[in-house]
Amino acid sequence: MITSKKTIEKIRAIINKHYNRVISKVLGKSLLDKKELEELKEAGYETSNDSFLEVVYNHNFINKPNNPLNPTSWEEMVAQQKAPGVVPQGEAHGYSIETLNESLKQYIEKQKLEIASRIEGIVRKNNDSYKMDALKNLDRPEYLDLLMKESSLSKIKQELRDTAANANYDWQRLVLTEMGNAVGIGSVDRIVSDNRDKDLTEVFVYRIPVNDDKTCVHCRKFYNNPKDNTYKIYRLSTLLSNGSNYGRKTEQWLPVIGSTHPNSRTSPIVEIPPGYKIKTGGGLTYIGMDKWKDYILQNLES
Ligand SMILES: [Zn+2]
Repeated sequence: MITSKKTIEKIRAIINKHYNRVISKVLGKSLLDKKELEELKEAGYETSNDSFLEVVYNHNFINKPNNPLNPTSWEEMVAQQKAPGVVPQGEAHGYSIETLNESLKQYIEKQKLEIASRIEGIVRKNNDSYKMDALKNLDRPEYLDLLMKESSLSKIKQELRDTAANANYDWQRLVLTEMGNAVGIGSVDRIVSDNRDKDLTEVFVYRIPVNDDKTCVHCRKFYNNPKDNTYKIYRLSTLLSNGSNYGRKTEQWLPVIGSTHPNSRTSPIVEIPPGYKIKTGGGLTYIGMDKWKDYILQNLES
């Protein structure tokens, strides 16, 4: 089975359309150009206005952690944000959201190119092996030729299926990681705007990692405090200056505000207001200003 150049172009167009649909669904249609949007419409796909990451960011900005009244479903989150005056406005928020959207868009574009070249590689390899076989058996009967076509077709189908499964896994990892960043950045933007008058070295925070047997040693080490079964305390400035672990080797990972590593199930950053102490389970309890200073000094991570 020789797959023609035309077929490869068709495959490329399908991949392109698929990824544009993903971009429009996850990041909102503002990131696509007019032609791309028209193609999607023609193909019968709905384009969405909402950026998934924007909703996650806003949710973490608007709602302080540990509040039982916070929206719990996607529909509730979107409904809350549709109410007038709820969504934070201004350049700084616009910047946070744009950065989140743009970085995920770049990853998606990169993944699109990778998958296209992987699929083209499979098609080419398959063409080559069919061609070699045909050259070696120029006078083979037609039924044998058909058989060859059949077998190479099922081989290529399997390889394409495997590639799609891998791409799906990559995609899940991408979204989880970027969602983690949106959660972390949304919660931190909120803490910063609540502490306008303070230096960020004097703002103390913690994070409650998801706690089950899937939680990795790094997240446990960075965020859990085994001394009293609560969570480690950091200056907000420390977490911010640790930047992002993206591109770092495992042994260089640091506690950060966004995703700690790919596939991490990130939780928001929580502020410890003056006078409060973390309880087992993650809530806060008032202990008074005198005790508080000692508590922070004794438990602070550098
Ligand atoms: Zn982890």
